Amino acid sequence: MAWTRFGKKKDMPGGLWIKCESCGAMLFRKEFEQKNRVCGTCGYHFTLPARERIALTADPGSFEEMWKDLRAHDVLGFNDRVPYAEKLVATKLKTGEADAIVCGTGKVKGIACALGVMNFQFLGGSMGMVVGEKIALLCELALERRLPVVLFACSGGARMHEGAVSLMQMAKTCGALQRMNQAGVPSISVLTHPTTGGVTASFASVCDLLIAEPGALIGFAGPRVIATTIKKELPKGFQRSEFLLEKGQIDRIVPRAQLRDELARLLAYATGGDAVLAFKPQAVATEAEATAVAVAVDDGKAKKKPKAKKA
Ligand SMILES: [Zn+2]
Repeated sequence: MAWTRFGKKKDMPGGLWIKCESCGAMLFRKEFEQKNRVCGTCGYHFTLPARERIALTADPGSFEEMWKDLRAHDVLGFNDRVPYAEKLVATKLKTGEADAIVCGTGKVKGIACALGVMNFQFLGGSMGMVVGEKIALLCELALERRLPVVLFACSGGARMHEGAVSLMQMAKTCGALQRMNQAGVPSISVLTHPTTGGVTASFASVCDLLIAEPGALIGFAGPRVIATTIKKELPKGFQRSEFLLEKGQIDRIVPRAQLRDELARLLAYATGGDAVLAFKPQAVATEAEATAVAVAVDDGKAKKKPKAKKA
């Protein structure tokens, strides 16, 4: 078959078919996009561009983007093959985005929240001054309005072109989330494939709740780097969501198709009040979830009794 010689996806832009990175199945692009970039054969979750993620998460028409004019500048005069300043301009032209995150406010099933969604298409979703600043601004806005924050991480890590300035964003975003934590304003991090480096090591890991999509690579250094350094074979599934859930690093795994419902449920619990009463939880997806819900229901009954007496 002629098309098999095109090894890389980028070799066939706008093609009718796309090859699954995980199982190798050929997927009909239209159907694949209708399934929000999840492989119909093996369930592999492809990286989702920020705008598609927002469309999938926020109520239609509810998202209001903020700080979209923030631009990075080349503080170091960084030059690899292409000067950083030129690379920024070219990437903006190619992606239509100013940097690697889209932030704003919106609603998820009627619950207002602050949303920050990383865009892997922009220089590998790397975190530089703009990403850090927008997350900090988003947290400040959330604090002021007492809105829960939902951050979707998808990143290759800190942006090397900005050197120490990009590393500073780790402390800055963690500081912003810490202030939210002290004020009791909830935060949820959704770790998507891939979340690595300085993003994993900062804001993506310090939110109140950590949710991951199935099969997402989440780690600091990549598995190949670690295997080469320690000269040992890594355990099966190393740095994947399922492995991290088992080790207790994340709170739960939610498939993309259920993520909006699950976020709404968690936001309702996190914000309390009428939203909890108004929200009807979805049918539980797995045995583990059923147990978790059963425990929560039991706790609820135990707590409700004394309340009933007071009333
Ligand atoms: Zn597949």
